[in-house]
Amino acid sequence: MTPSTTVRAPAKINLHLGVGAPREDGFHPLMTVYHAVDLHDEVTVSDAEEWSVVVRGAAEGVPCDETNLALRAGRALAAHHGLDRAARIEILKGIPVAGGMAGGSADAAATLVALDRHWELDSGDAVLFALAAGLGSDVPFGLVGRNALGTGRGEQVEQLPGVESPRWWVVVPSPGEGLSTPAVYRRYDELRPDAPAQPAAPYRLVEFLEDPVAEVAALLHNDLQVAALDLRPDLADLLAAGEAAGALRGIVSGSGPTCVFLCADQPTAERVAQALRASYDVVLTACGPVRGALGR
Ligand code: ATP
Repeated sequence: MTPSTTVRAPAKINLHLGVGAPREDGFHPLMTVYHAVDLHDEVTVSDAEEWSVVVRGAAEGVPCDETNLALRAGRALAAHHGLDRAARIEILKGIPVAGGMAGGSADAAATLVALDRHWELDSGDAVLFALAAGLGSDVPFGLVGRNALGTGRGEQVEQLPGVESPRWWVVVPSPGEGLSTPAVYRRYDELRPDAPAQPAAPYRLVEFLEDPVAEVAALLHNDLQVAALDLRPDLADLLAAGEAAGALRGIVSGSGPTCVFLCADQPTAERVAQALRASYDVVLTACGPVRGALGR
């Protein structure tokens, strides 16, 4: 059997997403609190003559060509080290695609770590984080996982304290057809022409990260929610339904359309998920925080 290396990377939710006015380069400055949950993609790499990517599991909508973020990550690592090597990358999808949970970014983070180990490159954190940031705003968080503050475009991550083992339960319904992230940002700019250059820091939430989940639920915030709800008014019904079924709080995840409900415990999460399954095909439950691709 060909030797291979497997690394898992988690989905993220944003407990806080503050969005400033667009910068000169067009990117929006973010101030976000990432939280990694135990919906994982698993990436397995092995040596090959040519680069290739194979996707299994709930793979609909994931490209298998050069645009796949995992393939771009593999090529970027090889180029950084000046290596003329290639790999086969196999992705087992457990993270909903195009749901605002950064599944593609998780795959890129897992690929960087898997190939770094497989080829015994010992790249070091500085190189891995720089390559990750070059691939996408959410990729560095895929490396660290757990709770982290994201600034800049979200690519500058700083690990935050928080509960050590997974004990916050979330329910994650995917309400059908995706929302385009650029379209949500454009609508946000129209609705919030007075957005500050720098979004406010979520100091209170950061203080409460080690506290009971109810305190955290009260502080969940997403600046993009107003734009997502404007483009998809049906999401307001979903948020109301989840809270009526017993969730502490529901918010749109990232740019949506996936929503996230924070629940007091696992039985409540199962109850909320069950209630939402009457109207939505895909309703997952998950628990966080969990480690990122680096596994520490
Ligand atoms: P975004 O980071 O754009 O908000 P998202 O978190 O909503 O994305 P992803 O699952 O990362 O959702 O997928 C976004 C798009 O990225 C997909 O529709 C797909 O075309 C593309 N993509 C590229 N590589 C991957 C990958 N490895 N896994 C999933 N999607 C990928």
